[in-house]
Amino acid sequence: MKCLVTGAAGFIGSHLCERLIAEGHEVIGVDAYVPYYPRSIKEQNLEALRNQRSFMFRICDLRKDPLEDLLAGVDYVFHLAAMPGLAQSWTDFDAYWTCNVLATQRLLEASRKCPTLQRFIHASTSSVYGKYASGDESLPLKPISPYGVTKLAAEHLCRSYAEAFGLPLVVLRYFSVYGPRQRPDMAYHRFIRSLLRNEPITVYGDGFQVRGNTYVADCVDATLAAMKAIPGETFNVGGVETATIWDILRKLEAISGCRAILRQEPPRPGDQRYTFADTSHLHRHLGWQPKISLDEGLARQFEWQRTESEAEGSFKREAA
Ligand code: NAD
Repeated sequence: MKCLVTGAAGFIGSHLCERLIAEGHEVIGVDAYVPYYPRSIKEQNLEALRNQRSFMFRICDLRKDPLEDLLAGVDYVFHLAAMPGLAQSWTDFDAYWTCNVLATQRLLEASRKCPTLQRFIHASTSSVYGKYASGDESLPLKPISPYGVTKLAAEHLCRSYAEAFGLPLVVLRYFSVYGPRQRPDMAYHRFIRSLLRNEPITVYGDGFQVRGNTYVADCVDATLAAMKAIPGETFNVGGVETATIWDILRKLEAISGCRAILRQEPPRPGDQRYTFADTSHLHRHLGWQPKISLDEGLARQFEWQRTESEAEGSFKREAA
């Protein structure tokens, strides 16, 4: 099948492309390298895909570049491109509005004219639920950050295209995804980086905020399973193990053998208090369930960051 993956150079998008290729699909990956975090990291994310004959990469900004040609003959669209993270969404709203809403509208407009399209799979987030995101898909939608608001607006836009034009839409709401290539702004990435450098770790709030954690390969499994979902469905995608920030830090200390140096700061506006996905809908309809335990997933992320930081260190030593 021919698949278009937006946000292909990102954390989850790059894993998704690799998995689609491994399953025998043809993939067009697009990304604009938005500077939310360095382009060099995104180029590194694409490393394993570069020599794949069934992978084609295009630098394309969904906010302004022509999209119709990209959709020629496409069977599946996986729309992962977005401005992620909530902290910056208070100060750079324009980027969130344009990348999360306007870009989605332009992609929908091109997709609705694509006669071969079988599914449009839209990556949404637990942030659409707001402060307490614990339960199934019927939870009230009450985002508490501009990020969550723009992601919810994008979901609504997708549904309006599904209703008006029969777009074969499936919405996935990801819950705190972690694992190798996790974005450098995300908490577990920051914690591991600081442990490896023996630097202080900033914990926002009381540290008792709870996350339902989703290992990236499980998230990608769910995203592939969505190719067979009934159009119109919305699914939570989340792991089965919750943990507070303190639980995570204890686990990372045990994995690394290092003691965390802690610094506490007030909670950040828009931070969620409790997230835990009830995924029984996804399990019932598509047989999905997460496979990787939190301990295993954190160990894999730690190992990836340790190897990356060693490679970076030896590069700096060679360059000096
Ligand atoms: P990421 O930032 O690593 O990847 C997103 C990619 O989209 C980036 O490479 C960026 O350059 C690209 N992009 C942004 N705007 C674009 C535009 N206008 N045109 C083309 N490309 C553009 O983020 P991620 O963590 O991999 O998240 C992927 C998706 O999953 C996002 O939609 C995000 O909202 C959603 N999500 C992620 C998590 C998580 O825990 N990582 C949780 C919930 C939802």
